[in-house]
Amino acid sequence: MLGSLFPEKLGFTQCHEHLMLSKGISYECNPSLWMDDIEASVKEVTSYRKMGGAAFVEAQPGGCNRMSEELKEISARTGIHIVASTGFHKMQFYPKGHWIGNTDRDRLAGFFIEELTKGMYVGTEHASPFENRTSDGRTDLKGKVFQTRTCAGIIKTALDSCGLDGPYRELFLAAAKAQKETNAPMMVHIEEGSSPVSLMRFLEETGVDLHRVYFCHMDRACRNWEVFRQVLRRGVTLEFDTIGRFRYHSDEEELRLVKRILAENEEQLLMSLDTTRARLKSYCEDAIGLTYILEVFLPMMRQEGISESQLNKIFKVNPGRILTW
Ligand SMILES: [Zn+2]
Repeated sequence: MLGSLFPEKLGFTQCHEHLMLSKGISYECNPSLWMDDIEASVKEVTSYRKMGGAAFVEAQPGGCNRMSEELKEISARTGIHIVASTGFHKMQFYPKGHWIGNTDRDRLAGFFIEELTKGMYVGTEHASPFENRTSDGRTDLKGKVFQTRTCAGIIKTALDSCGLDGPYRELFLAAAKAQKETNAPMMVHIEEGSSPVSLMRFLEETGVDLHRVYFCHMDRACRNWEVFRQVLRRGVTLEFDTIGRFRYHSDEEELRLVKRILAENEEQLLMSLDTTRARLKSYCEDAIGLTYILEVFLPMMRQEGISESQLNKIFKVNPGRILTW
């Protein structure tokens, strides 16, 4: 959000975070999915910068409580690069009958491409971006949708447990079309119980370059080594973020997973925290905070013998490669 990215200049990057989320359906699903206090979020991101952070990917797409204007402000105030998302999330995060679930693939793809190349839309929770547009409705929103001049940098998608059923097939085809036309990176939320391999084959058949794709939460949603190997072999990058999330597993367990991946492949691993309100210090005093990797997990990785060159790849080189287009 501070302009275009250059891979060699990107610096330390966490590839799946949430720093701003307006109160809406996400909050109704989980009260932790609500962070709309810009001062608190600026404070959190400032600490991240002080500890050595340079950039992060904000993983909430439009239409389900993304706050793109506030993200832009955070970026400007902290000097941190924020890569914002277009695309789609799980349908449970949208109001019933939301336009995202009943728009044809070409129109959707056009919308994603516009958000990537011209500017993100605000107000798409309540109204379709295909109608009611205002050229600059900043002063009189009233349920209208308007386009900002800040572009998204990544296509967020979500593989739910139902796979490509319902609206997901059209949504993935739209995302694939936008990916192919722009060469933007695509991140995929992987739900436990879904089939990442089937999705990978589907994306490959549509002509998506799998080297531009990363599968998120693979350390908790899928812990099958055969699956890890299959997707790595085809070029998909893995993003691990089950760190400081002790109801899933300990950090020691996470380290074992990371070391096992690194023994086979150092080029296709990214790491992050997938923060929510309950994991951000500025919102919840006893939370681990956005700096948890920098402050706690990196020293643990070093102690476990993970080399500086490997750390450099996970947090700088690999994000730089996949996020620039
Ligand atoms: Zn997330």
